[in-house]
Amino acid sequence: MLSDHPAQLNSDALSLALRVSESRYRRLFETAQDGILLLNANTAQIEDVNPYLIKILGYSHAEFLGKKLWEVGAFADWEESKELFAKLQATGYVRYDDLPLKSKSGESIAVEFVSNSYDCEGVKVIQCNIRSTTERKQNERLIRDSEKRFRAIFDQAPLAMALLDKEGSLIISNLPLSRMTGYSNNELSKMKFSDFTYPEDIDKDLNRFNELMEGKIPAYQMEKRYVHKDGHQIWANLFVTVLLDDRGLPQDVIAIAEDITERKQAEIKIKFLTRVYAVLSGINALIVRVRNCDDLFKEACRIVVEKGGFLMALVVIVDQGSKKVISITSAGKDEELLTMIKDRLSSSKDSSNTLVGLAMSGKKPIVSNDSLHDPRLAFRKKYAESGVRSLVVLPLIVSVETVGAFSLYASELDFFQDEELNLLTELAGDISFAIDHIRKQDKLNYLAYYDALTGLANRTLFLERVSQHIYSALKGNHKLAMFFIDLDRFKNINDSHGRISGDALLVQVAEWLTCYAGDVNLLARVGADHFAFVMPVVRPGSDLTQFVEKLMQAFMEHPFHLNDAVFRLSAKVGVSLFPNDAADAETLFKYAEAAIKKAKTSGDRYLFYTRKMTNAVAGKLTLENQLRQANNNEEFVLHYQPKVNLETGKVTGAEALIRWNDPLKGLVPPGNFIPMLEETGMIYEVGRWALRKAVTDYLHWQAAGFAAVRIAVNVSPLQLRNPSFIDELKGKIGLDSNTQGGLELEITESLIMADVNYNIATLKAIRAIGITIAIDDFGTGFSSLSYLSKLPVDTLKIDRSFVSDMAARSEGLALVSTIISLAHSLKLKVVAEGVETEEQMNLLRLLNCDEIQGFLFSKPVPAEIFESKFLTFL
Ligand code: C2E
Ligand code: CA
Ligand code: CA
Repeated sequence: MLSDHPAQLNSDALSLALRVSESRYRRLFETAQDGILLLNANTAQIEDVNPYLIKILGYSHAEFLGKKLWEVGAFADWEESKELFAKLQATGYVRYDDLPLKSKSGESIAVEFVSNSYDCEGVKVIQCNIRSTTERKQNERLIRDSEKRFRAIFDQAPLAMALLDKEGSLIISNLPLSRMTGYSNNELSKMKFSDFTYPEDIDKDLNRFNELMEGKIPAYQMEKRYVHKDGHQIWANLFVTVLLDDRGLPQDVIAIAEDITERKQAEIKIKFLTRVYAVLSGINALIVRVRNCDDLFKEACRIVVEKGGFLMALVVIVDQGSKKVISITSAGKDEELLTMIKDRLSSSKDSSNTLVGLAMSGKKPIVSNDSLHDPRLAFRKKYAESGVRSLVVLPLIVSVETVGAFSLYASELDFFQDEELNLLTELAGDISFAIDHIRKQDKLNYLAYYDALTGLANRTLFLERVSQHIYSALKGNHKLAMFFIDLDRFKNINDSHGRISGDALLVQVAEWLTCYAGDVNLLARVGADHFAFVMPVVRPGSDLTQFVEKLMQAFMEHPFHLNDAVFRLSAKVGVSLFPNDAADAETLFKYAEAAIKKAKTSGDRYLFYTRKMTNAVAGKLTLENQLRQANNNEEFVLHYQPKVNLETGKVTGAEALIRWNDPLKGLVPPGNFIPMLEETGMIYEVGRWALRKAVTDYLHWQAAGFAAVRIAVNVSPLQLRNPSFIDELKGKIGLDSNTQGGLELEITESLIMADVNYNIATLKAIRAIGITIAIDDFGTGFSSLSYLSKLPVDTLKIDRSFVSDMAARSEGLALVSTIISLAHSLKLKVVAEGVETEEQMNLLRLLNCDEIQGFLFSKPVPAEIFESKFLTFL
């Protein structure tokens, strides 16, 4: 029994195992997808071939068996087959990657050939493994083709694309990415995406990239900036997704970027421009309402920061003469930096080298669009710390003179491009205009309250101050004294030494009085050679008579010097007292004046007011009666004084001036009777007559065929205040379509200002019926610029006193120039009155004055003479 014998049992099991193994290997041999050929190493004969080899070479099993390798047709052409065999016998191993065999049908087949030799039960066997490479090559070609196609699609895609590894290094990238960044694809393959990302955007991109790698997000999208190889900035819309490996872990990253630089720049441009517009409109609104320069600068800076979103703003104002900084206004958070800037600008050594200094001296805006790298900036590092990246300095220029500069600091690089700059230059122009306007207004306000020659208060301001002193006197229960001082024979000095010397002397008198009074606020110049002085507190028991005498003595003893000559002046003084004489400033003033008039006629050096002085009404009564008679007898006449256009030299209008043709005294000037007409109310009737007469003359000249000239008629305040005035103009005075545009009313400035709101309404109604309006005696009343711009008027007449002052003093000239440019900026026509000399005319022409009126061209003349001398036929 086989199973009874252990050895037998063993060998049976062994042979069984062998058989199993052999059949297993056989099956392997039969089904292998490689060709296998077994050779006897001693005889070189083929011992076996597997079906696969039979299939690829086309020879039958029998055609192989027992043949030597080189005897089989497939190998026959291969000359090295013998050498191969020899080599195998020697080394036991041989390998060819590309061996050319031939199939039975004559097709050549490339194969990979690997052979080994081994011992098999004492026989050396050579096993050759043969694999066709045709298929592999075909596969390789397919892969190559597909890669090529993929590459073409990749490169032709409209978007920049790259495949990145987990570290963010680029594995491959396409042409659009190369074009977008300026780096070649080869250069890109050695870079990480952070290498060409805009430094400030690296962190936000890296954070998202890391989240992607940690599997927290499947993809992300962001707008970010890259830096082109040449340094410029690129905006891109980036889309990043991850490719997972078989285990679901991140393997590669696909990044797709769309170049949105153009759109982004347009967006930024709009954003920047919107901010500049906000500043512009804010400041323009400010200019209309602001009344002083401090507020203008403060508010302008605030608007720049709050509405414009700028980091800081600064206004520097310099003295026009010395160019030294006189004020610096700023807004913005970084106080420390602002202080540094201010210190540097205030230092006379450094300020001219600053951008502010350069912009002011060059009169052109200066831009620094990358302040950190601008060598012109001393504080570039400090700016960067404070967040400033670019800045602009705009010079402020008022009639060709630099008055200061306006600086804006932005937190963005490259903020100030052409369009921003254009708007900001416009803005600087607006601010300069406002500075100019405010300064002119200050000057006019000054004029309204101060005497331009001596700098003392004028009558208006003086009376205002006295009113305040009266208020305290009332509360303090004490007395107050007002002194009216009139220089003796001053007119003589003026006539013999000239106006300039006269003026110089008046200035010295004002200085002396100021010194004596100890307080300039107690004094005023109230007339050509008249001064007033208030003593706010008169102590009980104090001797005013003694005070006046001492004052006059000291004045008389003082040597005034003029052109190396010594002058000694004397004066008369009139005094009035509160509360003894009057309870208000105006009346006190009137009484002090009355006292001095009395002193002049009586020869006293000074007089205290007494009631008798104002009771002199007798003379007045007779004048009143005379005027009533004159009115009944139609003794009033109108004379006409031509107005001449300075550019064309033509007569463009005339002013009608009333005279009283007194049968006894001859022609009486209006100054002698108009106050009485006003006091008695006769002005209504006479004024109506003057208007009707002017209209009649105008219509007569029109009918006779003369070229029309506008006739201006003076209107008294009382007439204007009369509620029926407008109706009269249309009714009794007979204004109709024939007179449209032919009539102008001259109304004195002080009158309009007395009741501005009421008068504005009346003036509007007058203009509505085709009558133009001129402000008469401009410069002598209270002119607030803000009102002037609101007044419905057409023409501004500069008062004669300014015209005569113009050639004499440079301040006078400056003032007339100011008035003219101010009027023109308000679109008003300017007429200069009382032009007596060629010099005045030439100066006025230089200053662009529109028309002149005065003795130089003609005195006022009767209507017939005006007609024959100045009117021309159409
Ligand atoms: P006004 O309106 O300022 O008139 C200009 C005055 O200056 C006129 O004085 C005129 O003769 C004078 N004038 C003109 N050119 C020169 C010049 O080159 N040098 C000098 N030194 N004076 C010149 P007039 O005619 O004596 O009139 C004085 C004022 O009487 C006028 O001042 C005006 O306010 C008032 N007035 C005249 N006519 C009327 C009228 O019909 N109604 C009313 N309510 N007032 C009138
Ligand atoms: Ca006038
Ligand atoms: Ca006048």
